Amino acid sequence: MNIHEYQAKALLREFGVPVSRGVPALKASEAEAAAHTLGGPVWVVKSQIHAGGRGKGTFKESAAGDKGGVRLARSIDEVKQFAGQMLGATLVTAQTGPAGKQVNRLYIEEGSDIDKEFYLSALVDRETSRISFVVSTEGGMNIEEVAHKTPEKIVTFSVDPVTGVMGHHGRTAAKALGLRGDLGKQAEKLVAQLYNAFIAKDMAMLEINPLVVTKQGELRVLDAKISFDSNALYRHSEVVALRDESEEDAKEIKASRYDLSYVALDGQIGCMVNGAGLAMATMDIIKLYGMSPANFLDVGGGATKDKVAAAFKIITADPNVKGILINIFGGIMKCDVIADGVVAAVKQVGLNVPLVVRLEGTNVDAGKKIIRESGLNVLPADDLDDAAQKIVKAVKGVA
Ligand code: GDP
Ligand code: MG
Repeated sequence: MNIHEYQAKALLREFGVPVSRGVPALKASEAEAAAHTLGGPVWVVKSQIHAGGRGKGTFKESAAGDKGGVRLARSIDEVKQFAGQMLGATLVTAQTGPAGKQVNRLYIEEGSDIDKEFYLSALVDRETSRISFVVSTEGGMNIEEVAHKTPEKIVTFSVDPVTGVMGHHGRTAAKALGLRGDLGKQAEKLVAQLYNAFIAKDMAMLEINPLVVTKQGELRVLDAKISFDSNALYRHSEVVALRDESEEDAKEIKASRYDLSYVALDGQIGCMVNGAGLAMATMDIIKLYGMSPANFLDVGGGATKDKVAAAFKIITADPNVKGILINIFGGIMKCDVIADGVVAAVKQVGLNVPLVVRLEGTNVDAGKKIIRESGLNVLPADDLDDAAQKIVKAVKGVA
Protein backbone atom coordinates (compact mmCIF):
# COMPACT_ATOMS: atom_id res chain seq x y z
CA MET A 1 0.00 0.00 0.00
CA ASN A 2 1.22 3.48 -0.93
CA ILE A 3 0.52 6.85 0.64
CA HIS A 4 0.83 10.47 -0.44
CA GLU A 5 3.95 12.55 0.08
CA TYR A 6 2.30 14.81 2.67
CA GLN A 7 1.23 11.76 4.70
CA ALA A 8 4.70 10.24 4.44
CA LYS A 9 6.24 13.46 5.71
CA ALA A 10 3.82 13.70 8.64
CA LEU A 11 4.67 10.13 9.56
CA LEU A 12 8.43 10.70 9.31
CA ARG A 13 8.12 13.86 11.40
CA GLU A 14 6.87 11.69 14.30
CA PHE A 15 10.26 9.98 14.24
CA GLY A 16 12.12 13.29 14.37
CA VAL A 17 13.00 13.36 10.65
CA PRO A 18 13.61 16.93 9.40
CA VAL A 19 10.90 17.87 6.89
CA SER A 20 9.65 21.27 5.76
CA ARG A 21 6.52 22.80 7.29
CA GLY A 22 3.53 22.22 5.06
CA VAL A 23 -0.27 22.10 4.86
CA PRO A 24 -2.41 19.88 2.59
CA ALA A 25 -5.15 21.57 0.54
CA LEU A 26 -8.15 20.32 -1.43
CA LYS A 27 -9.22 23.71 -2.83
CA ALA A 28 -7.46 26.82 -4.16
CA SER A 29 -8.89 28.80 -1.23
CA GLU A 30 -7.35 26.29 1.21
CA ALA A 31 -4.04 26.61 -0.62
CA GLU A 32 -4.20 30.38 -0.18
CA ALA A 33 -4.98 30.02 3.53
CA ALA A 34 -2.10 27.55 3.85
CA ALA A 35 0.26 30.03 2.20
CA HIS A 36 -0.77 32.66 4.79
CA THR A 37 -0.20 30.22 7.63
CA LEU A 38 3.25 29.24 6.35
CA GLY A 39 4.30 32.85 5.80
CA GLY A 40 6.66 32.60 2.82
CA PRO A 41 8.49 34.33 1.15
CA VAL A 42 8.72 31.22 -1.09
CA TRP A 43 6.24 28.35 -1.23
CA VAL A 44 6.20 25.06 -3.09
CA VAL A 45 2.86 23.95 -4.55
CA LYS A 46 3.00 20.16 -4.86
CA SER A 47 0.49 17.89 -6.62
CA GLN A 48 -0.33 14.86 -4.49
CA ILE A 49 -0.66 11.74 -6.63
CA HIS A 50 0.71 8.24 -6.07
CA ALA A 51 3.40 8.62 -8.72
CA GLY A 52 6.80 10.23 -8.92
CA GLY A 53 8.34 12.46 -11.55
CA ARG A 54 5.76 15.16 -10.80
CA GLY A 55 8.25 18.01 -11.14
CA LYS A 56 8.91 17.13 -14.77
CA GLY A 57 5.29 16.17 -15.48
CA THR A 58 2.86 17.80 -17.90
CA PHE A 59 -0.77 18.74 -17.32
CA LYS A 60 -3.41 17.86 -19.87
CA GLU A 61 -5.88 20.61 -20.65
CA SER A 62 -4.70 23.01 -17.98
CA ALA A 63 -3.05 26.42 -18.05
CA ALA A 64 -0.29 24.81 -15.95
CA GLY A 65 0.78 23.00 -19.16
CA ASP A 66 4.32 21.67 -18.99
CA LYS A 67 5.31 23.73 -15.95
CA GLY A 68 5.19 20.57 -13.87
CA GLY A 69 3.28 19.25 -10.86
CA VAL A 70 5.73 20.80 -8.35
CA ARG A 71 6.08 24.56 -8.63
CA LEU A 72 7.83 27.28 -6.69
CA ALA A 73 5.58 30.26 -5.93
CA ARG A 74 6.95 33.66 -4.95
CA SER A 75 3.69 35.27 -3.80
CA ILE A 76 0.44 34.18 -2.22
CA ASP A 77 -1.31 35.13 -5.46
CA GLU A 78 0.93 32.70 -7.32
CA VAL A 79 0.15 29.93 -4.82
CA LYS A 80 -3.55 30.49 -5.43
CA GLN A 81 -3.09 30.66 -9.19
CA PHE A 82 -0.96 27.47 -9.40
CA ALA A 83 -3.35 25.64 -7.09
CA GLY A 84 -6.28 26.59 -9.33
CA GLN A 85 -4.45 25.29 -12.39
CA MET A 86 -3.40 22.00 -10.81
CA LEU A 87 -6.54 20.95 -8.92
CA GLY A 88 -8.84 18.80 -11.02
CA ALA A 89 -6.31 18.66 -13.88
CA THR A 90 -4.66 15.48 -15.11
CA LEU A 91 -0.94 15.19 -14.55
CA VAL A 92 1.11 12.92 -16.78
CA THR A 93 4.53 11.86 -15.49
CA ALA A 94 7.05 9.19 -16.44
CA GLN A 95 5.41 6.99 -13.80
CA THR A 96 1.68 7.56 -14.42
CA GLY A 97 1.51 6.14 -17.94
CA PRO A 98 0.02 8.18 -20.78
CA ALA A 99 -3.44 8.39 -19.16
CA GLY A 100 -2.02 10.41 -16.25
CA LYS A 101 -3.64 10.93 -12.86
CA GLN A 102 -6.10 13.52 -11.72
CA VAL A 103 -4.77 15.87 -9.04
CA ASN A 104 -7.29 16.08 -6.22
CA ARG A 105 -4.99 17.29 -3.45
CA LEU A 106 -2.08 19.62 -3.06
CA TYR A 107 0.57 20.05 -0.45
CA ILE A 108 1.69 23.63 0.17
CA GLU A 109 5.14 23.70 1.66
CA GLU A 110 7.56 26.38 2.79
CA GLY A 111 10.24 26.70 0.12
CA SER A 112 13.77 25.49 0.90
CA ASP A 113 16.96 27.13 -0.30
CA ILE A 114 18.70 24.15 -1.87
CA ASP A 115 22.47 23.85 -1.88
CA LYS A 116 22.77 20.14 -2.82
CA GLU A 117 20.35 17.33 -3.73
CA PHE A 118 20.98 13.70 -2.76
CA TYR A 119 19.20 10.36 -3.07
CA LEU A 120 18.51 8.04 -0.14
CA SER A 121 16.25 5.03 0.08
CA ALA A 122 15.68 2.00 2.27
CA LEU A 123 14.03 -1.26 1.25
CA VAL A 124 13.51 -4.85 2.27
CA ASP A 125 16.39 -6.59 0.56
CA ARG A 126 15.55 -10.21 -0.13
CA GLU A 127 19.11 -11.04 -1.09
CA THR A 128 20.54 -10.19 2.32
CA SER A 129 17.30 -10.68 4.32
CA ARG A 130 17.92 -7.25 5.79
CA ILE A 131 16.89 -3.65 5.38
CA SER A 132 19.27 -2.14 2.85
CA PHE A 133 20.00 1.52 2.26
CA VAL A 134 20.83 3.00 -1.13
CA VAL A 135 22.62 6.34 -1.05
CA SER A 136 23.79 8.56 -3.88
CA THR A 137 25.05 12.08 -4.41
CA GLU A 138 22.93 12.16 -7.59
CA GLY A 139 19.68 13.42 -6.11
CA GLY A 140 16.60 14.64 -7.95
CA MET A 141 17.33 12.23 -10.79
CA ASN A 142 15.94 8.90 -11.82
CA ILE A 143 17.95 6.43 -9.71
CA GLU A 144 17.64 3.61 -12.28
CA GLU A 145 19.40 5.87 -14.75
CA VAL A 146 22.15 6.68 -12.24
CA ALA A 147 22.58 2.95 -11.55
CA HIS A 148 22.87 2.29 -15.27
CA LYS A 149 25.21 5.10 -16.29
CA THR A 150 27.28 5.78 -13.16
CA PRO A 151 26.97 2.80 -10.80
CA GLU A 152 30.03 4.01 -8.87
CA LYS A 153 27.92 6.90 -7.60
CA ILE A 154 25.64 4.56 -5.68
CA VAL A 155 26.57 3.23 -2.24
CA THR A 156 24.57 0.53 -0.52
CA PHE A 157 24.76 -1.01 2.95
CA SER A 158 22.47 -3.19 4.99
CA VAL A 159 21.52 -3.29 8.66
CA ASP A 160 21.76 -6.50 10.66
CA PRO A 161 18.41 -6.93 12.43
CA VAL A 162 20.19 -8.35 15.47
CA THR A 163 22.15 -5.18 16.19
CA GLY A 164 19.72 -2.74 14.64
CA VAL A 165 21.00 0.52 13.20
CA MET A 166 24.42 1.58 14.50
CA GLY A 167 26.69 4.59 14.29
CA HIS A 168 28.75 3.14 11.47
CA HIS A 169 25.70 2.88 9.19
CA GLY A 170 25.10 6.59 9.51
CA ARG A 171 28.80 7.32 9.01
CA THR A 172 28.81 5.22 5.81
CA ALA A 173 25.90 7.28 4.48
CA ALA A 174 27.54 10.57 5.50
CA LYS A 175 30.79 9.57 3.82
CA ALA A 176 29.00 8.50 0.63
CA LEU A 177 27.35 11.91 0.49
CA GLY A 178 30.56 13.78 1.31
CA LEU A 179 29.08 15.23 4.51
CA ARG A 180 31.41 16.14 7.37
CA GLY A 181 31.20 17.92 10.69
CA ASP A 182 27.73 18.97 11.76
CA LEU A 183 26.14 17.82 8.47
CA GLY A 184 27.77 14.42 8.92
CA LYS A 185 26.19 14.18 12.38
CA GLN A 186 22.81 15.13 10.91
CA ALA A 187 23.14 12.36 8.31
CA GLU A 188 23.99 9.81 11.01
CA LYS A 189 20.95 10.82 13.03
CA LEU A 190 18.72 10.74 9.95
CA VAL A 191 19.72 7.19 9.00
CA ALA A 192 18.82 6.00 12.51
CA GLN A 193 15.48 7.82 12.46
CA LEU A 194 14.58 6.41 9.04
CA TYR A 195 15.51 2.89 10.05
CA ASN A 196 13.41 3.15 13.20
CA ALA A 197 10.44 4.47 11.24
CA PHE A 198 10.88 1.71 8.65
CA ILE A 199 10.80 -1.05 11.26
CA ALA A 200 8.08 0.46 13.45
CA LYS A 201 5.69 0.92 10.52
CA ASP A 202 6.56 -2.28 8.59
CA MET A 203 7.51 -0.43 5.45
CA ALA A 204 8.49 -2.21 2.27
CA MET A 205 10.17 0.81 0.72
CA LEU A 206 11.08 4.34 1.72
CA GLU A 207 12.49 6.65 -0.94
CA ILE A 208 13.76 10.16 -0.35
CA ASN A 209 14.54 11.91 -3.61
CA PRO A 210 15.76 14.48 -3.05
CA LEU A 211 17.31 14.68 0.37
CA VAL A 212 18.81 18.16 0.41
CA VAL A 213 21.35 20.28 2.18
CA THR A 214 19.95 23.79 2.51
CA LYS A 215 22.02 26.95 2.18
CA GLN A 216 21.47 27.30 5.94
CA GLY A 217 23.43 24.07 6.45
CA GLU A 218 20.54 21.76 7.29
CA LEU A 219 19.80 18.31 5.98
CA ARG A 220 16.15 18.04 4.95
CA VAL A 221 13.80 15.48 3.41
CA LEU A 222 12.23 17.27 0.44
CA ASP A 223 10.30 14.40 -1.13
CA ALA A 224 9.22 11.12 0.46
CA LYS A 225 7.60 8.05 -0.98
CA ILE A 226 6.59 5.16 1.28
CA SER A 227 5.08 1.77 0.52
CA PHE A 228 4.01 -0.53 3.30
CA ASP A 229 4.15 -4.29 3.48
CA SER A 230 0.52 -5.26 2.91
CA ASN A 231 0.97 -8.46 4.94
CA ALA A 232 1.61 -6.31 8.02
CA LEU A 233 -1.22 -3.83 7.58
CA TYR A 234 -3.39 -5.75 10.04
CA ARG A 235 -1.26 -4.38 12.86
CA HIS A 236 -1.24 -0.77 11.64
CA SER A 237 -4.77 0.62 11.57
CA GLU A 238 -3.21 4.11 11.61
CA VAL A 239 -1.52 3.31 8.29
CA VAL A 240 -4.65 1.76 6.75
CA ALA A 241 -6.47 5.00 7.64
CA LEU A 242 -4.12 6.83 5.24
CA ARG A 243 -5.25 4.77 2.27
CA ASP A 244 -6.55 6.87 -0.64
CA GLU A 245 -8.64 4.49 -2.73
CA SER A 246 -9.10 7.08 -5.46
CA GLU A 247 -5.41 6.55 -6.28
CA GLU A 248 -5.78 2.80 -6.68
CA ASP A 249 -7.11 0.65 -9.48
CA ALA A 250 -10.80 -0.07 -8.77
CA LYS A 251 -10.36 -3.69 -9.88
CA GLU A 252 -7.42 -4.17 -7.52
CA ILE A 253 -9.41 -2.76 -4.60
CA LYS A 254 -12.20 -5.20 -5.32
CA ALA A 255 -9.74 -8.08 -5.62
CA SER A 256 -8.14 -7.16 -2.29
CA ARG A 257 -11.55 -7.47 -0.59
CA TYR A 258 -11.62 -11.09 -1.72
CA ASP A 259 -8.00 -11.59 -0.77
CA LEU A 260 -7.02 -12.30 -4.38
CA SER A 261 -3.53 -11.53 -5.68
CA TYR A 262 -4.51 -9.38 -8.63
CA VAL A 263 -2.56 -6.83 -10.63
CA ALA A 264 -4.24 -4.96 -13.48
CA LEU A 265 -2.23 -4.81 -16.71
CA ASP A 266 -3.00 -3.31 -20.08
CA GLY A 267 -3.24 -6.32 -22.40
CA GLN A 268 -6.34 -8.05 -23.79
CA ILE A 269 -6.28 -11.54 -22.35
CA GLY A 270 -7.72 -11.97 -18.88
CA CYS A 271 -6.00 -14.72 -16.89
CA MET A 272 -7.20 -16.78 -13.97
CA VAL A 273 -4.51 -19.03 -12.61
CA ASN A 274 -3.59 -20.71 -9.33
CA GLY A 275 -0.10 -20.14 -8.02
CA ALA A 276 2.09 -17.14 -8.70
CA GLY A 277 4.66 -19.13 -10.68
CA LEU A 278 2.05 -20.64 -12.97
CA ALA A 279 0.47 -17.20 -13.37
CA MET A 280 3.82 -15.77 -14.47
CA ALA A 281 4.36 -18.65 -16.88
CA THR A 282 0.86 -18.15 -18.30
CA MET A 283 1.54 -14.45 -18.87
CA ASP A 284 4.84 -15.27 -20.56
CA ILE A 285 3.32 -17.78 -22.92
CA ILE A 286 0.52 -15.40 -23.91
CA LYS A 287 3.28 -12.95 -24.83
CA LEU A 288 5.11 -15.67 -26.71
CA TYR A 289 2.08 -16.22 -28.92
CA GLY A 290 1.83 -12.54 -29.69
CA MET A 291 -0.68 -11.01 -27.27
CA SER A 292 -0.53 -9.45 -23.80
CA PRO A 293 -2.16 -10.37 -20.49
CA ALA A 294 -4.82 -8.01 -19.11
CA ASN A 295 -3.95 -8.97 -15.56
CA PHE A 296 -1.97 -11.10 -13.19
CA LEU A 297 -4.31 -13.16 -11.04
CA ASP A 298 -3.44 -15.87 -8.58
CA VAL A 299 -6.60 -17.27 -7.00
CA GLY A 300 -4.46 -19.06 -4.43
CA GLY A 301 -4.61 -22.55 -3.05
CA GLY A 302 -7.66 -22.44 -0.81
CA ALA A 303 -10.06 -20.50 -3.02
CA THR A 304 -13.80 -21.06 -2.55
CA LYS A 305 -16.48 -20.99 -5.22
CA ASP A 306 -17.39 -17.41 -4.20
CA LYS A 307 -13.81 -16.26 -4.48
CA VAL A 308 -13.43 -17.81 -7.93
CA ALA A 309 -16.72 -16.22 -9.04
CA ALA A 310 -15.54 -12.81 -7.75
CA ALA A 311 -12.25 -13.20 -9.61
CA PHE A 312 -14.05 -14.09 -12.81
CA LYS A 313 -16.32 -11.05 -12.49
CA ILE A 314 -13.35 -8.73 -11.97
CA ILE A 315 -11.78 -10.07 -15.16
CA THR A 316 -14.94 -9.77 -17.27
CA ALA A 317 -15.70 -6.26 -15.98
CA ASP A 318 -12.51 -4.98 -17.64
CA PRO A 319 -13.50 -3.58 -21.07
CA ASN A 320 -10.01 -4.30 -22.42
CA VAL A 321 -10.48 -8.04 -21.95
CA LYS A 322 -11.16 -9.67 -25.31
CA GLY A 323 -10.60 -13.25 -24.21
CA ILE A 324 -10.08 -15.24 -21.02
CA LEU A 325 -7.66 -18.01 -20.24
CA ILE A 326 -8.23 -20.13 -17.15
CA ASN A 327 -5.23 -22.25 -16.31
CA ILE A 328 -5.53 -24.38 -13.20
CA PHE A 329 -3.20 -27.00 -11.94
CA GLY A 330 -5.21 -28.58 -9.17
CA GLY A 331 -3.22 -29.48 -6.09
CA ILE A 332 -4.74 -28.07 -2.94
CA MET A 333 -7.04 -26.17 -5.29
CA LYS A 334 -9.62 -28.52 -6.73
CA CYS A 335 -10.60 -28.31 -10.38
CA ASP A 336 -14.31 -28.80 -9.61
CA VAL A 337 -14.30 -25.80 -7.26
CA ILE A 338 -12.86 -23.64 -10.04
CA ALA A 339 -15.41 -24.99 -12.50
CA ASP A 340 -18.29 -24.32 -10.09
CA GLY A 341 -17.09 -20.76 -9.50
CA VAL A 342 -16.72 -20.01 -13.18
CA VAL A 343 -20.13 -21.42 -14.07
CA ALA A 344 -21.78 -19.48 -11.23
CA ALA A 345 -20.11 -16.23 -12.32
CA VAL A 346 -21.02 -16.67 -15.98
CA LYS A 347 -24.65 -17.30 -15.01
CA GLN A 348 -24.67 -13.94 -13.22
CA VAL A 349 -22.69 -11.73 -15.57
CA GLY A 350 -22.79 -13.54 -18.90
CA LEU A 351 -19.86 -14.21 -21.17
CA ASN A 352 -19.23 -12.17 -24.31
CA VAL A 353 -15.65 -13.16 -25.05
CA PRO A 354 -13.98 -16.47 -25.87
CA LEU A 355 -12.98 -18.57 -22.88
CA VAL A 356 -10.27 -21.22 -22.89
CA VAL A 357 -10.06 -23.53 -19.91
CA ARG A 358 -7.17 -25.78 -19.10
CA LEU A 359 -7.68 -27.94 -16.04
CA GLU A 360 -5.28 -30.50 -14.69
CA GLY A 361 -4.77 -32.27 -11.38
CA THR A 362 -7.05 -32.88 -8.40
CA ASN A 363 -10.68 -33.62 -9.39
CA VAL A 364 -9.97 -32.81 -13.02
CA ASP A 365 -12.65 -35.10 -14.38
CA ALA A 366 -15.31 -33.64 -12.09
CA GLY A 367 -14.22 -30.14 -13.14
CA LYS A 368 -14.37 -30.91 -16.84
CA LYS A 369 -17.78 -32.52 -16.41
CA ILE A 370 -19.19 -29.42 -14.69
CA ILE A 371 -17.98 -27.21 -17.52
CA ARG A 372 -19.18 -29.60 -20.22
CA GLU A 373 -22.65 -29.89 -18.71
CA SER A 374 -23.00 -26.16 -18.06
CA GLY A 375 -23.66 -25.45 -21.71
CA LEU A 376 -21.03 -22.74 -21.64
CA ASN A 377 -19.19 -22.01 -24.84
CA VAL A 378 -15.80 -23.06 -23.57
CA LEU A 379 -12.75 -24.08 -25.57
CA PRO A 380 -11.04 -26.87 -23.66
CA ALA A 381 -7.25 -27.13 -23.78
CA ASP A 382 -4.87 -29.93 -22.89
CA ASP A 383 -1.78 -28.09 -21.79
CA LEU A 384 -0.45 -24.59 -21.31
CA ASP A 385 0.97 -24.30 -24.79
CA ASP A 386 -2.26 -25.47 -26.39
CA ALA A 387 -4.31 -23.15 -24.16
CA ALA A 388 -2.29 -20.05 -25.00
CA GLN A 389 -2.41 -20.74 -28.74
CA LYS A 390 -6.16 -21.35 -28.60
CA ILE A 391 -7.02 -18.15 -26.77
CA VAL A 392 -4.78 -16.00 -28.97
CA LYS A 393 -6.30 -17.55 -32.07
CA ALA A 394 -9.85 -17.10 -30.76
CA VAL A 395 -9.27 -13.45 -29.87
CA LYS A 396 -7.56 -12.62 -33.15
CA GLY A 397 -10.38 -14.39 -34.96
CA VAL A 398 -13.08 -12.18 -33.48
CA ALA A 399 -11.11 -8.92 -33.34
P1 GDP B 1 8.91 14.58 -7.93
O1 GDP B 1 9.24 15.29 -9.19
O2 GDP B 1 7.58 13.89 -7.98
O3 GDP B 1 9.99 13.64 -7.49
O4 GDP B 1 8.73 15.71 -6.80
P2 GDP B 1 9.80 16.35 -5.78
O5 GDP B 1 9.09 16.58 -4.50
O6 GDP B 1 11.04 15.55 -5.73
O7 GDP B 1 10.10 17.76 -6.43
C1 GDP B 1 10.73 17.89 -7.69
C2 GDP B 1 11.84 18.90 -7.63
O8 GDP B 1 11.34 20.15 -7.22
C3 GDP B 1 12.90 18.55 -6.59
O9 GDP B 1 13.84 17.65 -7.09
C4 GDP B 1 13.51 19.92 -6.32
O10 GDP B 1 14.51 20.21 -7.29
C5 GDP B 1 12.33 20.86 -6.53
N1 GDP B 1 11.85 21.33 -5.23
C6 GDP B 1 11.01 20.67 -4.39
N2 GDP B 1 10.85 21.36 -3.24
C7 GDP B 1 11.63 22.46 -3.36
C8 GDP B 1 11.93 23.56 -2.49
O11 GDP B 1 11.46 23.68 -1.36
N3 GDP B 1 12.78 24.51 -2.97
C9 GDP B 1 13.34 24.44 -4.21
N4 GDP B 1 14.17 25.40 -4.60
N5 GDP B 1 13.10 23.41 -5.04
C10 GDP B 1 12.26 22.44 -4.63
MG1 MG C 1 11.19 13.44 -5.99
